[in-house]
Amino acid sequence: MGSLSVEPDAGQEEQFDLVIVGAGINGLYAARALLAIQPSINLVVVDSLSSVGGVWSRERIYPGLNVQTTPEYFELPELRYKDVTPPLEHNSKGFMTGPSWSRYFQAWSEKVGLTKHVRLNTTVRQIARHADGKRWQCYLADSGKILTSDKLIVANGIASLPKYPDLDCSKFSPPVMHHRYFGERRADWDKEEVKHVTVYGAGKGSMDNIVQLIKSGKKVKWVIRKGGRGPPWIMDPNLPNGGRAEALGFSRFLALIMPSLYQDEGFSGLHYFFKQNFFGRNFSKFFMNSSRSVAMSQLKPLNENLRRALPEMGPFWMYHVIGIDNYDIKVYDFIRNGDIEVARDDIVSLQGDTVTLESGESFQTDAVVFATGWKASISLFSDNMELEMQMGLPSTSYTDEYTQKWKALEEEADKRVYLENPILKDAPAPPRIPPQESGPFRLYHYTVPTNFADGSIAFLGVSPSPGTCHYAIVMGLWTAAYLTGKLELPSKEELEKVTAFELRFTQIRHVGLSNEFPLITFDWMAIVAEFLKELGINPYMKGGYFREIFWSYKADDYADLFDKWIAKHGIVEPK
Ligand SMILES: Cc1cc2nc3c(=O)[nH]c(=O)nc-3n(C[C@H](O)[C@H](O)[C@H](O)COP(=O)(O)OP(=O)(O)OC[C@H]3O[C@@H](n4cnc5c(N)ncnc54)[C@H](O)[C@@H]3O)c2cc1C
Repeated sequence: MGSLSVEPDAGQEEQFDLVIVGAGINGLYAARALLAIQPSINLVVVDSLSSVGGVWSRERIYPGLNVQTTPEYFELPELRYKDVTPPLEHNSKGFMTGPSWSRYFQAWSEKVGLTKHVRLNTTVRQIARHADGKRWQCYLADSGKILTSDKLIVANGIASLPKYPDLDCSKFSPPVMHHRYFGERRADWDKEEVKHVTVYGAGKGSMDNIVQLIKSGKKVKWVIRKGGRGPPWIMDPNLPNGGRAEALGFSRFLALIMPSLYQDEGFSGLHYFFKQNFFGRNFSKFFMNSSRSVAMSQLKPLNENLRRALPEMGPFWMYHVIGIDNYDIKVYDFIRNGDIEVARDDIVSLQGDTVTLESGESFQTDAVVFATGWKASISLFSDNMELEMQMGLPSTSYTDEYTQKWKALEEEADKRVYLENPILKDAPAPPRIPPQESGPFRLYHYTVPTNFADGSIAFLGVSPSPGTCHYAIVMGLWTAAYLTGKLELPSKEELEKVTAFELRFTQIRHVGLSNEFPLITFDWMAIVAEFLKELGINPYMKGGYFREIFWSYKADDYADLFDKWIAKHGIVEPK
């Protein structure tokens, strides 16, 4: 397998046991897990930004960006919110503000002793296999330095590489920015002269930007591509019974009633009923889609502008992006009254200060935000296409042999997906989104490359789930156990079979989102249970059958996770 094979100058190379790329929640929690089970490990976490937190770093947040996970489910076991001073701020709906969570995360990383392991303002330009075929080398941008390590974790975040539409902006005078830079480029949209802003794209991020623009007194034109998956589902965080939706989302209930990647979590009778029985499997569709009619009734009266902003399909099929209404303004009221004008159209040109749509409509604007999402790839291996392909990363240069092999594995995987989740055969046709040029992530447990399952490299954060913090905790420990040689993986043949199954499940399950990252949504609790079992840890912590189904999991449930693991496997000794 190839390597860049560049001999570093003396003094330009540093050696570590472990390098972690990315100081977001996934990178830092993995560092925390590694230091807990192998305190002697010599590790460094590098990040291009000047503060930790990734999406929630100081430079990326802006005042109106709120965490969309209810605070009690976005907390880490080592630091309680109430212990942070000055007190953290919440908006009028009880959601924590982005600046507060950013502050919380900085305080957490200091409290758990991670700060001294982090190098900020340090960008990895390229990663290569060392010529010895065992270690890894991270080539840093600017300094020319190389970090060489026995082990490597790539946790560089799915929201790090902006995807731009194919538009020429060179003859356009107003500021244009991707929503990745909305916080950093606040001065460009938050000034008096900017009265009218065009937002292009229809993810949750577009809605976040729009809400902030409205709160800053701007008029917004929201352009949603015709051929795409349409506007996002913005769900009410409150249930009709007065409870919070996430209480369900952080219990096992949703994984039990809906299609699920893993079903061997001890409730086989319920899984069987809700997956295989006609009434059972239609119950979950009815249950989820009933929230559609509730949501629609709350939005009345509808007018044409508002209709254009509403998703066509209920949330069950994951045809549209789903987000939580964590805003302290009633955003649909602003759409109804026209402060946010919606077009279902494509932008075809940007010239002077005029935006032209495919329908022929054109209008003037003072700024444009491309809320067009992220490139589903990791560019760090792209100097070596063979390595990129062997790594199971999205690539544009697969060999025929690679393509044929995975085609066969994935066809076989499809049979298992449909057998275990027959309702997925009823899925609607996906939206007409052009397939991504590069292929998907093919990583075992969305983490380990099957060709490099030698305990030396892992990718974290590739598969986003609504349980971000809990998933980061469990996968941090899983990865730590794997990289320290304490977790045995199945044979290569089995790894590939499982990888194909995990990939195809996420693609088939998320009808409108299958092009991109392997998303984990309603069944994330069942996946966490599977991974905990592999670690030898009992995933049932609630004490009782019904509690286990309906009670939600919180940070406290994971507080003694490392102790449980160490009690079973012992501290990992220095090499
Ligand atoms: C606007 C927005 C809002 C969100 N809101 C929520 C929410 O409310 N709840 C929720 O559960 N999830 C939310 N998410 C999902 C979000 O992805 C997770 O919350 C979480 O931050 C992901 O953590 P991560 O560590 O995987 O990646 P990130 O937080 O993106 O961190 C990755 C880090 O890697 C660094 N990096 C990348 N490339 C390099 C390189 N070459 N060299 C050095 N460093 C590099 C980046 O600078 C970044 O700091 C949101 C995402 C976005 C974009």
